[in-house]
Amino acid sequence: MNLDRLAFVDLETTGANPVGDRITEIGIVTVDGGRISRWNSLVNPGCRIPPFIQTLTGITPEMVEDAPSFEALASEIHDRLKGYTFIAHNARFDYGFLKNEFKRLGQRFQADVICTVKLSRRLYPQYPRHNLDSLIVRHDLQVADRHRALADAELIWQFWQQIQTDLGASALDEAVAHQLKRPTLPPGLDPGVLDDIPDLPGVYLFYGADDALLYVGKSINLRQRVLSHFNADTREFRELRLGQQTRRIEWRETVGELGALLLESRLIKELRPVHNRRLRQNNELCTWQLQAEAPGDFRPRLLCGDEVDLAGGQDCYGLFASRREATHALRSIAEANGLCLSVLGLEKTTSAGRACFAYQLKQCQGACVGKESLVTHGARLMAALARLKLKAWPYAGPIGIVERDEVSEREEIHVIRGWCHLGTARDEAELEEILAGRHQPVFDKDTYKLLTKHLATRPRILKLGDRLAESEICVS
Ligand SMILES: [Zn+2]
Repeated sequence: MNLDRLAFVDLETTGANPVGDRITEIGIVTVDGGRISRWNSLVNPGCRIPPFIQTLTGITPEMVEDAPSFEALASEIHDRLKGYTFIAHNARFDYGFLKNEFKRLGQRFQADVICTVKLSRRLYPQYPRHNLDSLIVRHDLQVADRHRALADAELIWQFWQQIQTDLGASALDEAVAHQLKRPTLPPGLDPGVLDDIPDLPGVYLFYGADDALLYVGKSINLRQRVLSHFNADTREFRELRLGQQTRRIEWRETVGELGALLLESRLIKELRPVHNRRLRQNNELCTWQLQAEAPGDFRPRLLCGDEVDLAGGQDCYGLFASRREATHALRSIAEANGLCLSVLGLEKTTSAGRACFAYQLKQCQGACVGKESLVTHGARLMAALARLKLKAWPYAGPIGIVERDEVSEREEIHVIRGWCHLGTARDEAELEEILAGRHQPVFDKDTYKLLTKHLATRPRILKLGDRLAESEICVS
């Protein structure tokens, strides 16, 4: 941050969209210690200027006809702003326009930015309005030629001085420091990358030394979430440390939150980042399936890894991280309910019909010795496990969950079968490709959980079973 060298900037443009609209005039007041210099130029935007903008700014097509293009002015503008703190009223607008003009020329423009709207809100919170016209009246600023670039830049400079007169230099310093709270970037991470991360949902990947993948995270706002890893005042020490180890950042945009969650879950399992402890372990996911030995006589069978498949709608109970955890859970439930460990296969007895150990302690109700019928035992087992019961896949085949962003009108279709995420399609061709794919996705706990939760919100669903049948006919 360099408050000795300030550039007060204002632009006039053909409209409000920094990507589609162009600059028609630029005015810069630079203050370097005591030295003040003023510069401005009309800019030929190379496109039409809407009539209402002409009325607002007084800049007509005739005026810019012979003006230089932005390209012709770029190096002069760059030199004037280099090393200066960029100050503008609603700075995101002016800064965004300039960045985009430079980007079109294949150049990068970057500066520390201070917004005088934000300054005004912070320092004069008692007032509801902070547009330039309100500031002119409130602070008695001297207007030369409102809505022309240099005159408006001059007004911002006047406002800046007025703050110091009103509230003192230290109040201004504090407000500026608050606004410039620049993320603390580790050495070796390109600062420009942070400007490119969009305010959109998606997944981000942090790479460290030797390009090792450190972390995969998701957010409905990638930019804010990534920045939070670099904010010195973040409460999470672990997050901060992770940020400081980061050397490279990648991200993938999604249409919405579900897409981000599914992609995050998948990438973590595929790529096994060093710092994702929670979602990483999935090697030996286990569940208990109840199978009938005889009618009503239910016995648990442990399914692990690839055997776990809820597409068929079997009676499965609980999701456990390992065989050990599954066995431990069933044993606890059995003991709490007086079920027989021997009948459940959790304890070996010397021969059939012999009492189990718990029966001798009167902790088993006697299914092992015929005191309790195996059908009653089976019914009690099912009741005891009821709250762990997994939801069977309720569709005949794969479905597509449609996720849509109403603003951008982008759509993604998440293809799911048997609670497994087969892939996400953005168009018909990708959808066909996913449906034609023969790979067997492995069931995983996180995806199951987030899908059961999401389906309860009644999203838009495409039933894809028929289409799958069609594609199979084509292939064979
Ligand atoms: Zn027993």
